[in-house]
Amino acid sequence: MFVIPLIQRKRDGGNLTGEEWRSLVHAYAREEVPDYQMAALLMAVVCRGLEEHELAALTDAMSASGARLAFGPGVPRRIDKHSTGGVGDKVSLVLAPLAASIGIAVPMISGRGLGHTGGTLDKLLSIPGFRVDLTLDEARRQVERLGVAMLGQTEEIAPADRKLYALRDATGTVEAIPLMAASIMSKKLAEGLDGLVLDVKRGSGAFLPALEDGLTLARTMVRLGEERRCPTVALVTAMDRPLGWSCGNALEVAESIGALRGSGPPDLMEVVLQLGCEMALLAGVAATRPEARQRLEAAIASGTALEKLRAVVDAQGGDPRVLDEPARLPQAPLVQDHVAATDGYVATVEPRAIGEAVVAMGGGRQVMEDGIDPAVGLVLHVRPGERVERGAPLATVHARDERGLALALEALTSAIVIGPEPPEPPLPLVSHRVTSDGVKVLA
Ligand code: URA
Repeated sequence: MFVIPLIQRKRDGGNLTGEEWRSLVHAYAREEVPDYQMAALLMAVVCRGLEEHELAALTDAMSASGARLAFGPGVPRRIDKHSTGGVGDKVSLVLAPLAASIGIAVPMISGRGLGHTGGTLDKLLSIPGFRVDLTLDEARRQVERLGVAMLGQTEEIAPADRKLYALRDATGTVEAIPLMAASIMSKKLAEGLDGLVLDVKRGSGAFLPALEDGLTLARTMVRLGEERRCPTVALVTAMDRPLGWSCGNALEVAESIGALRGSGPPDLMEVVLQLGCEMALLAGVAATRPEARQRLEAAIASGTALEKLRAVVDAQGGDPRVLDEPARLPQAPLVQDHVAATDGYVATVEPRAIGEAVVAMGGGRQVMEDGIDPAVGLVLHVRPGERVERGAPLATVHARDERGLALALEALTSAIVIGPEPPEPPLPLVSHRVTSDGVKVLA
């Protein structure tokens, strides 16, 4: 395929036809277009955007680049959740088994870490033995049997997104509304869903920090979903500080297990429960929001949700003993506290700097081929607004070596700023609900 004229046209502000997008995506998925040409075109899209008809064609072509999950009769309504990417965002690890434990079928296809944000796949892979490369048939059978499967894009499911996602990660082409919308919706639409709940992050740690951009992304994805007969709801949530305490793959799995045991950090649990309510309402397993919340809380309190995670880990080849003994998760050899240099109020816990530190320590990728060190990361001990005394631990670093430790301590010094006065309140945790009816301000 001759791609140069398409790159030039997009670079100069023109549009590609639907047929051109379809041919390009198919040729790229078949390795007939080199990464450098695709990267140039993606950068042109970052700068020039896509028309609505181009976005529709790109999304559909990416989704159709693989097969679709199809379910027989008798499977409960299938609802999934996807986030636009955050730091410490382990919501999927908690929510997928939790939702399944109240009767929602969750065929969850996730991505690996992107930029400074973590990815559900990398987190799951820190569980010894856990397989994310399920075949479609395995995924379908597992959803039919257990109500939930957590997998990555294989050659079978939206393979074009898998390639493009890795390429965008390595070429500075993540931050574009149409590319994010096409990436997320192409894989979700391949899951054969009856409904989709989106967690659109805003704030300094989000790919799109500005509220207006987050709302545009939310509206765009809701429209793409609804036009393809997949009822879609988006909640806008805060990413001006990390979510929960831990950032780093195995550390986040441990925190998620704790959350399913009833000891999750309040901010994480609030986001999980609000997204879970939306899933329950779409699935029709609860008639009202209070009923949905009560069912979700009861599933945690009774241990049913934790048992669902155990069943998933077991079914996907992982070591289920990690649920009772999180110390069986990969452990970093160097563990050291970062302490407050002065008395005062925590002004910022800057998520982007923290996410970048985890990547630099080896917990994420800097180039496409990088491996992941599952053990490294940070556990935070403070939130913005808290009063601290000099010498108080602000965070604990889990590092592989002295270099990683030094990088993390330096990043924490700039990420956690202590000021003399209480700071402005942080962003509301869950601020907007976006549906086909429009945007509702929640807080
Ligand atoms: N998550 C995705 O799956 N794709 C993106 O582009 C961003 C977040």
